[in-house]
Amino acid sequence: MIITRQKPFQEILKNVEGKKKIFLIGCALCATTCKTGGIDQLESFKCALVEEGKDVVGLAVPDPTCNLLEIKRLYREKKNEINFSDVIISLSCGGGAQAISEIITDIEIVSGNDTLFQGEITKIAPKESRFDQKCSLCGECILTSTGAVCPVTRCPKGLLNGPCGGVKNGKCETDNELDCVWLKIYDRLKKFDRVNEMKEIKLPKDHSKNKFPQSLIF
Ligand code: SF4
Ligand code: SF4
Repeated sequence: MIITRQKPFQEILKNVEGKKKIFLIGCALCATTCKTGGIDQLESFKCALVEEGKDVVGLAVPDPTCNLLEIKRLYREKKNEINFSDVIISLSCGGGAQAISEIITDIEIVSGNDTLFQGEITKIAPKESRFDQKCSLCGECILTSTGAVCPVTRCPKGLLNGPCGGVKNGKCETDNELDCVWLKIYDRLKKFDRVNEMKEIKLPKDHSKNKFPQSLIF
């Protein structure tokens, strides 16, 4: 899932300075789960904008916003309201905002969310949710050799051969709240009688596999 965080309201407001009519677009998938762009957040965002004297001409929550076909459908269905607006505020991820700009080319887009990382849902609750980054999409997965625990992402140094000398009482030297992920890798490999594999030196990864931008066609 793509994890987003809403930008401070005043920052978004500054970015729509001088624009009166606003159309809001959230996302029914990740941004809804993150509570940054679901229907509830759009409704309260609309109220906040109205209090600031803005005119919210419409809102939509495509499912999902990063699907160009969904944006085409939205534009067909709500062309009049969208074309009537001075600006669109996207409360989706960066991919969603760009999908909007691909299809709705004549209206300025303001991105209301910061896109943070691809994350795991650890906890979803009304008062507190938690998302954790476990994979940084490196393009060359080594999980089979590390007991399905990713050091590329979960070791702050991204060490392929660990642990380093800085581990203390099971915690990482860069953050004493963080468990050293290489101890977790050790425990996992031990469970499957594969600890010996930790002695094999892993060669540097091929970083050309996560160059940007990428496309996959099949
Ligand atoms: S090695 Fe880690 S960062 Fe790379 S694809 Fe696998 S889980 Fe993701
Ligand atoms: S203590 Fe562990 S998690 Fe922290 S940098 Fe060293 S190997 Fe990585």
